[in-house]
Amino acid sequence: MPRVHIVGAGMAGLSAAVRLAGQGHEVVVYEAGRHAGGRCRSYFDGELGCRLDNGNHLLLTANRAALDYLERIGGLETMVGPPASRFDFVDFADGARWVLAPGEGRIPWWILDRARRVPGTALSDYLRLATLARSRENATVAQRLDTKSVLYRRLLEPFAVAALNTESGTASAALLWDLLVESFGAGGKALRPLVPRHGLSESLVDPALAYLARHGATIRFGARLREIALEEERAIALDFDDGVVALDPGDAVIVAVTAPVAARLLPEITAPTEFRAIVNAHYRVATDPASPPFIGIIGGTAEWIFRKPGILSVTVSAADPIVDQPAESLALRLWQDVACAYRLTDTTLPPWRIVKEKRATFAATPAQERLRPPAATRWRNLVLAGDWTRTGLPATIEGAVRSGETAAAIVQRICGNLLTVNGAEVTQSSRLVA
Ligand SMILES: Cc1cc2nc3c(=O)[nH]c(=O)nc-3n(C[C@H](O)[C@H](O)[C@H](O)COP(=O)(O)OP(=O)(O)OC[C@H]3O[C@@H](n4cnc5c(N)ncnc54)[C@H](O)[C@@H]3O)c2cc1C
Repeated sequence: MPRVHIVGAGMAGLSAAVRLAGQGHEVVVYEAGRHAGGRCRSYFDGELGCRLDNGNHLLLTANRAALDYLERIGGLETMVGPPASRFDFVDFADGARWVLAPGEGRIPWWILDRARRVPGTALSDYLRLATLARSRENATVAQRLDTKSVLYRRLLEPFAVAALNTESGTASAALLWDLLVESFGAGGKALRPLVPRHGLSESLVDPALAYLARHGATIRFGARLREIALEEERAIALDFDDGVVALDPGDAVIVAVTAPVAARLLPEITAPTEFRAIVNAHYRVATDPASPPFIGIIGGTAEWIFRKPGILSVTVSAADPIVDQPAESLALRLWQDVACAYRLTDTTLPPWRIVKEKRATFAATPAQERLRPPAATRWRNLVLAGDWTRTGLPATIEGAVRSGETAAAIVQRICGNLLTVNGAEVTQSSRLVA
């Protein structure tokens, strides 16, 4: 039976593997590390004496592909969040606090109600957002929005920076618009935030590994691909650190590694070359279950704070300006923001851990967007997956899962077994393969 070889066990590789193994394909997954999950994983932190996520990850109910994936692997029940869309904010400039709670429906009635709008904003500020829809390919977020407006400072910029992990001065306006359409455009029902109850691995990774085991897939850890032997039209062998895997004529390969590794393995493809950092700070403290599950900070160094049992965690996106600062000073500076946002009475610095992901995601700029390749390649049995491929989304779990689904659909076609999944990319890519 032909095999599907999937290289990389991040969200993209795992979603492709789950889809294909579930369809009865013989799947082998190769992962360079000792754990699956890639940039979306948990680990035990000896210093803090508890499990931590490499970084806080937030899903929205708008993330249909990610939720379908969670449902398929049996992890959906492990995701938790408020019963309705709700985001707490504090502005350090004037101490204002508010809750953004768009209603359930598609029509954004909340923007008509002054009491429910972001404080200091007018209806016209929201209506002007429609101008983003006409953004040219090269336009940046800061060029298309009124950067002096309160709405920009208190909602649009924090949302854009968190979602695109790129500063607004260079981030793609078109990408932000697509994201707003999929999230705010779909109404409050699509904006319910979800986080893992225990950890990223417990929700998104471990159930996938169990699913793959149940469906007869093989996973090889510590298997680093160093070269792909290519002929004119197809890949013929995979050269790993510990040996070569020759491909049979019906075999297919999904390369689901990071952009820099893919570009090295396949110099003919284009791939993003610029990346942005994310800094996370985790503090071991007694947490109040009645306090907000997360708070958006305006005017601080911390941008979002997540409350978990016994842990307060900070995320700073597009963190390149601070990523090289010593961990001790970051821990202190971010703790001050945490103490202020959560109105803590004891402000003594608790045990902490700073996690720096220097290349957390590709930079979502117009120029980098153009470098994102489609899933299909000129080699008939070789397909790409990863949050950096042309998904139409920034680098997110949703984008990675969709890329895995797209790759799986193409492999199904290669195997002469059509699978229908969301999105135009499947059609486009399939044409390329044909
Ligand atoms: C700190 C942080 C916070 C984030 N927050 C959010 C969030 O709130 N919401 C959200 O939706 N997204 C968030 N993201 C983005 C999200 O984590 C990624 O988009 C997603 O995990 C990418 O998955 P991937 O499979 O494309 O890539 P990766 O996770 O990078 O997977 C690639 C895999 O390939 C393996 N590999 C590499 N080279 C080789 C090789 N030569 N041979 C074999 N294997 C190899 C790697 O070890 C890795 O496991 C965040 C990311 C970070 C870093």
